[in-house]
Amino acid sequence: MNWISEWALPKIKTLFGASREVPENLWHKCPACEQMIFHRDLERNLHVCTHCGHHMRISAARRLECTFDPGFSRIELPKVPADPLRFRDQRRYADRLREAQVKAAMDDAVAVAHGAIEGQRAVVAAFEFAFMGGSMGAGVGEAIVTAARLAVLQDAPLIVFTASGGARMQEGAVSLMQMPRTVIATRLVKEAGLPFIVVMCDPTTGGVTASFAMLGDIHIAEPGAMIGFAGARVIEQTVREKLPEGFQRAEYLLEHGILDMVVKRGEMRETLARVIGLLREPLLTQPERAPAAAEASNVIALPTPEAPAPAAS
Ligand SMILES: [Zn+2]
Repeated sequence: MNWISEWALPKIKTLFGASREVPENLWHKCPACEQMIFHRDLERNLHVCTHCGHHMRISAARRLECTFDPGFSRIELPKVPADPLRFRDQRRYADRLREAQVKAAMDDAVAVAHGAIEGQRAVVAAFEFAFMGGSMGAGVGEAIVTAARLAVLQDAPLIVFTASGGARMQEGAVSLMQMPRTVIATRLVKEAGLPFIVVMCDPTTGGVTASFAMLGDIHIAEPGAMIGFAGARVIEQTVREKLPEGFQRAEYLLEHGILDMVVKRGEMRETLARVIGLLREPLLTQPERAPAAAEASNVIALPTPEAPAPAAS
């Protein structure tokens, strides 16, 4: 596309009041700085605002694409009983679910794939926030369990990109059961001595935060991501105190030790590859280790730190 269609045509159409003819998705308005961004620029920049660096939410499919090297494969997830409680609010849950499935072209709110990240093998589970707010019901629980099992089977690290409003209310207790289930699933990965990395994207809240998302070996977040259990307003009402500036944002949590890193989307791939390399290479470079020691040790062998220098008296 040249400058006529990228720049001049939209301007002309706006001038002549024919803006409705321009597809709505051609230009995006950044929710943070309200500047307009051409869709192709936004896509090229991985949905990060080219003006202010705001990280917009992206789909699970796009997340897998920009994380893996080409040639990764998405896996089919086991079917779970839809609408176990035959729940109905203003609408039937079964209808809401079907609608979300058609819109997102997914069975539930998590996509799982395996492949390589800059040559490092990995299994990745990515939440789709647009699918009922990335809420965790039986389908999401099953996806995390499947991803964890696949990681163990393939002797590969597990990476989960979270983006969730928490439990799926329409599944009641079934939804809450996914919290211990996903915790146990991710324990399997750790017991196999494999890295479990959580990348918290905007927003990561509720039952996902309160279960496996806070149990990673390495906690990464995208800039500005909202991460917490309950919302700030609920907390303020409960503790009757004004919360500090930037509370529940990635940068604040990094400062307070909840996160290990805040990584820009454009640097996520190389960061993940480097972290996996650091966590796994010590094992790979010791092929002649005694088998007994290998079995006994679930932890990753790290170089012995030098003895600390005696404190000056
Ligand atoms: Zn912006």
